[in-house]
Amino acid sequence: MSATPEIEALRVSPYRDGGAPMTGEELIAANPYRPWPARITSIQTLTEHEKLFEFRFIDENIRNAFHHQPGQFVELSLFGVGEAPISISSSPSKSGFIELCVRRAGEFTQRLHEMQCGDIVGIRGPYGRPFPFEMMKGHDVLLVAGGLGIAPLRSLINNIHDERSEFGKVTIIYGSRSPQEVMFRDQFEMWRHRKDFDLYLTVDHPDDGWDGEVGLVTKPFQHLEVDPDRTFGAVCGPPVMYKFVVQEMRNKGISYDRIYMSFERHMKCGMGKCGHCQIGHQYCCIDGPVFNYWEAKNIQGSM
Ligand SMILES: Cc1cc2nc3c(=O)[nH]c(=O)nc-3n(C[C@H](O)[C@H](O)[C@H](O)COP(=O)(O)OP(=O)(O)OC[C@H]3O[C@@H](n4cnc5c(N)ncnc54)[C@H](O)[C@@H]3O)c2cc1C
Repeated sequence: MSATPEIEALRVSPYRDGGAPMTGEELIAANPYRPWPARITSIQTLTEHEKLFEFRFIDENIRNAFHHQPGQFVELSLFGVGEAPISISSSPSKSGFIELCVRRAGEFTQRLHEMQCGDIVGIRGPYGRPFPFEMMKGHDVLLVAGGLGIAPLRSLINNIHDERSEFGKVTIIYGSRSPQEVMFRDQFEMWRHRKDFDLYLTVDHPDDGWDGEVGLVTKPFQHLEVDPDRTFGAVCGPPVMYKFVVQEMRNKGISYDRIYMSFERHMKCGMGKCGHCQIGHQYCCIDGPVFNYWEAKNIQGSM
């Protein structure tokens, strides 16, 4: 699909005072509110309600300059519809594109689900505080995702996968309501076949073909052997899940400041200006969305 004149206009790279064109990094920094045009290059249907979209920035400078870390999000805009925060689901170790896993929830996400490969959207970011990937190196990592929480955690899991030798034991627990709602089945099969990932898939309501665990996402904790002095926890899922998963991690002896969780709050600007995502004295968009349990406990009304 060829770009419209409006899109072409957005592609023009401004110049510095001296006349040299700005680098991609300079362009992004010059106006962090500006969405950059990106093309949908792949769409994968994951479940009845979720699709995985791959986007590539049209401007090569932006494409090369855009770097994120696991746990960060972008503001995705659909022209004439609006803007929404969406976690980046792909690993930073894969460059040139980003993947967003989106659940159909209301008007915005419905319109995205109707789009086709070649369609153009706007993306600004990346925003927010990521998971402490570098700090996790040299340690065991216990990752727990519920439902759509697998979207941001997938970025972290794939990043760990690509630098596997830097980490100790890696355990992944992923819970869904039913087998039909399990996302990224092919990736789970790949991780399952690797001997260096301990994987637990669990559903609340199994069907006849289900051969994984049955029960809440906390159930596999019964089998887990955790060395608390060398383990980081990472949790992402529906709000109700955090309290119970964190309690299980605490029962295993993992310390408050090594349990990380990602919070979703309604947000607009993504840059700590509008106040929509304020929880107590913190802005979820810049102080989070990833907080450790110690911080989360001290944010009024968050846990
Ligand atoms: C940091 C962050 C990361 C996110 N990452 C993802 C992601 O990876 N994939 C994804 O599908 N969605 C993600 N969301 C949620 C996404 O932004 C909303 O689903 C989207 O804005 C809904 O827009 P809509 O117009 O389709 O639905 P609306 O009509 O606005 O809402 C439909 C339903 O979704 C609920 N909803 C709306 N916004 C949020 C929100 N921010 N958090 C929780 N519930 C919400 C509403 O309360 C309502 O029940 C994220 C939100 C945040 C803050």
